[in-house]
Amino acid sequence: MTETVTIIGAGIGGLTTALTLKQKGLSVTIFESSAEIKPVGAGIIIANNAMQVFQKLGIQDKIEKAGNKISYMKITDTQLNNISVVDLTEYEKKYGVHNIAIHRGELQKILANEVGYDTINLSKRLSKIEKTDLFKLTFEDNSTIESKLLIGADGIKSIVRNQLFEESTLRNANQKCWRGICEIDLPEKYHTELNEAWGKGKRFGFVKISDHKVYWYALTNSKNTKSDEVNLTEMFSEFHSDILKIISATGKEQIIVSDIIDLKPIYKWQGENVCLIGDAAHATTPNLGQGACQAIEDAYVLGKLLDTGIAIENTFKEYENLRRKKAHTIVNTSWTVGKMAHIENSFGIFLRNMIMKNLPRSANKKQMDMIFNLN
Ligand SMILES: Cc1cc2nc3c(=O)[nH]c(=O)nc-3n(C[C@H](O)[C@H](O)[C@H](O)COP(=O)(O)OP(=O)(O)OC[C@H]3O[C@@H](n4cnc5c(N)ncnc54)[C@H](O)[C@@H]3O)c2cc1C
Repeated sequence: MTETVTIIGAGIGGLTTALTLKQKGLSVTIFESSAEIKPVGAGIIIANNAMQVFQKLGIQDKIEKAGNKISYMKITDTQLNNISVVDLTEYEKKYGVHNIAIHRGELQKILANEVGYDTINLSKRLSKIEKTDLFKLTFEDNSTIESKLLIGADGIKSIVRNQLFEESTLRNANQKCWRGICEIDLPEKYHTELNEAWGKGKRFGFVKISDHKVYWYALTNSKNTKSDEVNLTEMFSEFHSDILKIISATGKEQIIVSDIIDLKPIYKWQGENVCLIGDAAHATTPNLGQGACQAIEDAYVLGKLLDTGIAIENTFKEYENLRRKKAHTIVNTSWTVGKMAHIENSFGIFLRNMIMKNLPRSANKKQMDMIFNLN
């Protein structure tokens, strides 16, 4: 009899891993703390590398249909004048997939449907793990199960990591983030691009995710806000009127506020019969838009190792070897980009923008090549 793999967490990482393992013929069961698969009301960009994985899993078309193709990523000044433009069309041709901006809910729905709801046990918050021969898992409702194989896909505050691995450190980037989705007819010139406007210690990004829907995010240095309840129109008053229209079109109750945190890189993601994937292993700040994409790559690498014919429990060490360098590079680069984006000093901003405007195309290309190339 084949062992069932127990996955904790039905986020993007857990669901993609479950789908991958199922497609390789493994038996999988997921335990998720939430009562329903109901992700935050925000958008997400699934970049080319992750879309390559979804292409291999046979769900590229579904995701493209539910989202919007993005061919340019722009960093601009407050008035939406370009500072830096990354043209993604070369990668679209090379890999046959686009970067897709999509509602998180739509993406979760597609993944959960593909995995099958009979595989997902909801309202099951893991609270305790005991390891003898097997893992004995106790949930908050006092129910228990035993499993030989355990995958922790339970996010940045992972209980699997906290109970089975060495102590780790969460780092606060001291940036506050507001996210929302609004219904608005965005001018056509923005339809295939992500725009992120950088001001003094704050920035605002927006992208079309479907016919009339726009996902946006706004960040500022935390020290500049006293409360989560701020008037964003006031805070971004010096920004382009198209940005102010987006803020005004969003109901206050639909705005999500969070602190930006990441996991200081850890080097051990696996042990005997257990491994961590996604944010549980390598949570990053969102500045490169790669957190979920890296979780999706984790699933891909596990699947690729299974293709060599080895048993799942023997893939974990090699998975860690193959994934660690890229995931850590993303975490570290993203941290630096976040700091650069929030400079407050006028001369520093001038200098940064000058350097970014004059950066040779090859510098951006090297980074994009690294990110979009699957291991
Ligand atoms: C502002 C912001 C913008 C972002 N934008 C992007 C982007 O554009 N592109 C991108 O690729 N990434 C982006 N990310 C990152 C992305 O959201 C995460 O990296 C991704 O969601 C991680 O997926 P995961 O499955 O590893 O973890 P999570 O999404 O955190 O899922 C973990 C799951 O485990 C469950 N869980 C937790 N604890 C338990 C427990 N004890 N028992 C049972 N279940 C449990 C949770 O309920 C959850 O469903 C962004 C992040 C932020 C904060």
